[in-house]
Amino acid sequence: MVRTRFAPSPTGHLHIGGLRTAIFNYFFAKANIGEFLLRIEDTDRERSRKEYTKAILEGLKWCSIDWDDICYQSKRQDIYEKYLKELFDKGLAYRCYCSKERLEKLKQEQIEKGENPHYDGHCRNLKEEIKDKDFVVRIKLPSEDIDFKDVVHGDMHFSYKEFDDFIIRRSDGSFMYNFTNVIDDIECGITHVIRGDDHLTNTAKQVVLYRLFSKSAPVYAHVPMILGEDKTRLSKRHGAQSVLEYRDMGILPDALVNYLIRLGWSYGDKEIFTKDELIELFNIENLNNSAAVFNPEKLLWVNAEHIKLMSPKKLLEYAKPFMDRRCFDYENNYLIRAVETMQPRAATLKELASGMLFYCVSPKEYEQKGAKKYLKESVKEPLVFLLERLKEADFNSEDELKKAFEETMEKFELKMVKIAQPVRIGLTGRSAAPGIYEMLMILGKDESISRIERVIDAIPFRLS
Ligand code: GLU
Ligand code: ZN
Repeated sequence: MVRTRFAPSPTGHLHIGGLRTAIFNYFFAKANIGEFLLRIEDTDRERSRKEYTKAILEGLKWCSIDWDDICYQSKRQDIYEKYLKELFDKGLAYRCYCSKERLEKLKQEQIEKGENPHYDGHCRNLKEEIKDKDFVVRIKLPSEDIDFKDVVHGDMHFSYKEFDDFIIRRSDGSFMYNFTNVIDDIECGITHVIRGDDHLTNTAKQVVLYRLFSKSAPVYAHVPMILGEDKTRLSKRHGAQSVLEYRDMGILPDALVNYLIRLGWSYGDKEIFTKDELIELFNIENLNNSAAVFNPEKLLWVNAEHIKLMSPKKLLEYAKPFMDRRCFDYENNYLIRAVETMQPRAATLKELASGMLFYCVSPKEYEQKGAKKYLKESVKEPLVFLLERLKEADFNSEDELKKAFEETMEKFELKMVKIAQPVRIGLTGRSAAPGIYEMLMILGKDESISRIERVIDAIPFRLS
């Protein structure tokens, strides 16, 4: 059975790079009817914070990246001790009592000789334990080359000479990342590890640990890091980093998931994926090694596509936090129709919410450019005529509304835009807005008529 995991360290908010890693692991597990686990790597007592764990869980929940199980490394000390004992018993780990000063001096000497700094094995063969003296625990690095296969990078090879007897437990008793990470992956039966390629050297060390424990390593897939448009590693300079900031900007979770999964993975030239499609189609063979550049405009485009795809009812739920509560009556079901009219023309939930504000407040002013262009003396008479026709029309019938416009167009030999645009400006204040009949029907007769009367009074329009 396929089992993957996402293993964030709660030393900061969930950022989009972390979310992408979670997404890859989640969909790979689900595509293979496997399990996806969440592991909070909070062994670093100084830097880990509860608020960050909370924010990470909140971000994942918002994206519906649901975990089958969750564990906290801070509660697993006993398990790590047990594994440590195993290494001691096999003679594969040892206590190192070297002082900071000695190690610093060693480092300087090695640098002077032009060598890479590495531990010299000074305490490797000590016979006796020294009482009352601080120590770290190191592994005895085998003198064998380190090889592993990576789904994205192919055959990876490291010489053992690039490493030393690295530390697995600090002098305060806390364990190092590589050690706990491997033990938990063994204990939880993790079969596949998908993560950023900044971990490749860690992986070499981890492969050594698997060997010491006589266990086989999982399948690895190291994906390229997300870069900003200037091709440097994504950071604050490139704008919002935290997943919850995207939520607050009005990005749909499905859109963010869709956008991020395409950074390092593709399926032909398909761009828009629903969750169900991803569960069906995601595979690790299609992960790729090309630079994953974060493009905010493309994210907006993907978001607009998901806004169009979503049912108006569900979309309304997502849009509510962005809507003016004093103004909209959520109980009224005209709102669903109103949302529907904005679906083809909003890139974010914020735009959707502000774009439909006119349904509940009549425009305070008219957009200058559009008003100057369309509110001309010559349309005054046709608009008065239209208004009379509308007063007689049934606003629940699109046909009757259409007929009123058609009669006006015919009588004054005018094209639809010449009449529709002034009406659109009158109803919404803007010249870009939903279809005229749908707006009239949603606004209803009284409200529509009073807004059209007002726009007629504003003709000829003068710039303020
Ligand atoms: N806690 C590690 C990190 O956040 C986990 C890396 C891994 O997936 O093994 O980078
Ligand atoms: Zn030592």
